[in-house]
Amino acid sequence: MLNVVAIPAFDDNYLWLIHDGRHAVAVDPGDATPIIKALRERGLTLSAILLTHRHADHVGGVPELLKHWQVSVYGPRHDNITSITDPLDDGDCVRLAQPELELGVIAVPGHTRGHIAYHAAQQGWLFCGDTLFGGGCGRIFEGTPAQLADSLDRLAMLPEATQVYCAHEYTLSNLRFAREVEPGNPALETRIGAETAKRAAGLPTLPSTIGLEKATNPFLRCGQRELVDSLRRAGRLQQEDSSPLAVFTALREWKNVYK
Ligand code: ZN
Ligand code: FE
Repeated sequence: MLNVVAIPAFDDNYLWLIHDGRHAVAVDPGDATPIIKALRERGLTLSAILLTHRHADHVGGVPELLKHWQVSVYGPRHDNITSITDPLDDGDCVRLAQPELELGVIAVPGHTRGHIAYHAAQQGWLFCGDTLFGGGCGRIFEGTPAQLADSLDRLAMLPEATQVYCAHEYTLSNLRFAREVEPGNPALETRIGAETAKRAAGLPTLPSTIGLEKATNPFLRCGQRELVDSLRRAGRLQQEDSSPLAVFTALREWKNVYK
């Protein structure tokens, strides 16, 4: 029986621990201190590290963790991360013995060039770093809008019940933007109510699910008429082009400056 634990870090990061009661895998340990504390409290031994991309808030704790536990570090081949022992490409499979876990690797470039996501098909879990967020998506730092849109399309094809473990607690501010661009979506109001209650109780809004994201995340809904109309009204979709990619690009640009 495997568990996933959220370890809050910095202002709004979640570092994820997957454990079987004895051994644990750390996903994106940006900071070692809260990971070490969580492992000690639960009597767990670190057995592997999984990285989604090279940003410091996802990899910063790796050197310190390796001082305590000499474990394999899995991560994207194409993201210039020096600590990786097992570089991964799209379609690879990570097979761990302790805890017993299989993870498929999905290349999701856009936020960074090499960004990958891990999909535990048997458990129905997705660890997607800074690619897909609750109600939103990552910023495009190294890729193109077309790349990030393709990456999100791949994640959206996973089963709807898939639990989505994002790396940041951005859900409420993302949903405020979602309501701005799609005010007529009733699923959005329901979700805002539920997520607001979770935050008020001090709980993470994550994991989300692929089904919930498809129903409420504007970046997965670029074919919706209302999004096109909102973008046009805001003067953010100039030409006749209302293709999903044009809508996605305009949404991402608007979100970048949305307060
Ligand atoms: Zn990042
Ligand atoms: Fe991040």
